[in-house]
Amino acid sequence: MKNKIMNLPINILLFLFLFQVPEISLGQENFPWPEGKKFAISLSFDDSRKSNLDYGIPILNQYGVKGTFYVHPQVVKENLKEWKDAILKGHEIGNHTLVHPCSENFIWSRNKSLEEYSLESMREELEQASQQIYELLGVKPISFAFTCGQTYVGRGAGKRSYAPLIADLFVSGRGWLNEAPADPYYLDLAEVNGMKMDDIDFEDILPVINYAREKNLWLVLVGHDTKPDNSEQTTRLKFLEDMGKYINEHSDIWSATVGEIARYVQTTRTNGRKINHEPLPIQSDADGNFVLKASLGKGDGPKIEYMPEWKAYGWWTSRDSVVWNIDVRKSGKYLIELEWSISDEEAGKPMVFQIGEKQIIKTIHSSGSWETFKKIQLGILDITKGKHKVIVKPKDQNAKGHFMDLKTLNLIRQ
Ligand SMILES: [Zn+2]
Repeated sequence: MKNKIMNLPINILLFLFLFQVPEISLGQENFPWPEGKKFAISLSFDDSRKSNLDYGIPILNQYGVKGTFYVHPQVVKENLKEWKDAILKGHEIGNHTLVHPCSENFIWSRNKSLEEYSLESMREELEQASQQIYELLGVKPISFAFTCGQTYVGRGAGKRSYAPLIADLFVSGRGWLNEAPADPYYLDLAEVNGMKMDDIDFEDILPVINYAREKNLWLVLVGHDTKPDNSEQTTRLKFLEDMGKYINEHSDIWSATVGEIARYVQTTRTNGRKINHEPLPIQSDADGNFVLKASLGKGDGPKIEYMPEWKAYGWWTSRDSVVWNIDVRKSGKYLIELEWSISDEEAGKPMVFQIGEKQIIKTIHSSGSWETFKKIQLGILDITKGKHKVIVKPKDQNAKGHFMDLKTLNLIRQ
């Protein structure tokens, strides 16, 4: 047993050391993974290595597991048909830059070092890589993996994180050699932890899988080659087979691509009343619209509760409100639309929709019943670029009874 432990790779040893300690419960709810799943696993592979096509993908296909492949367009060109076939099988293609720049501390990276990049040159390269992938494979990457797991450009006082760029261009950016699975409530989608699956046996990663299960986390694993010879930077074929079997035998795992899970996390995580801090700012979707789900807001006040079964806030009294933070990229007019429900008996109370200094006041009419959600347009407001607080609350703070159930607030760009 002792020998087995000593043979574990250093990142897993670190993991065991750092995370296998008693924890104080913060009263956090379990993350609402779909269909009652307990945790999530994504398998990802970098650099568009040919061994993925030859050995890795056939094994994933055999077990019905979908992987995410962070590719370089120049390399994809060499085996275009095989990569297209992989997409048809449901695998995801992500962006991994054009030339794989890394720190100039690596000898091989000195003619393409991140220290020599600027945010502008990096943006240009990322956009080009996505465009070329689109032209070659017909898919637009929503996932990115940091080359060498390094997230900066420049050096010293001029050094900058390019994670904000990733947040702008993709749904997620994935790291490498990170120490723990990602917590869906707290993770920064621009820098999702990625843990190594190269050069180890399946048993080595089991403690991490069980930790992810126990804490409802998202384990993103990262590999490179998938060769039969177990040479360096290879996710062993036996590892993949064991993983495929394990995923099929355990129904509490949500196994999906990084892109699918990142999108789910982005639109589902409840930053609500169970945590102390402000809800994270919500970004607009690709069309510039905001979908403010109840689960993304924070219920404030004595009685209000998020109801997961309805994906709505309820038990709302005159002293309660819901707050979202939004980050508006473009100033403009937005149509405000509310999805709500309320019974005939409780209907008729005036509500305040507030964003910054601006307000719309509307009476909440009956939707027919508490179980029937309907949509109503509240009006159009000018919203300026920048961060804003969006609040929905009753106008009369002394009104008796229930206010409404609120499912979604849409801010639709005009
Ligand atoms: Zn790479």
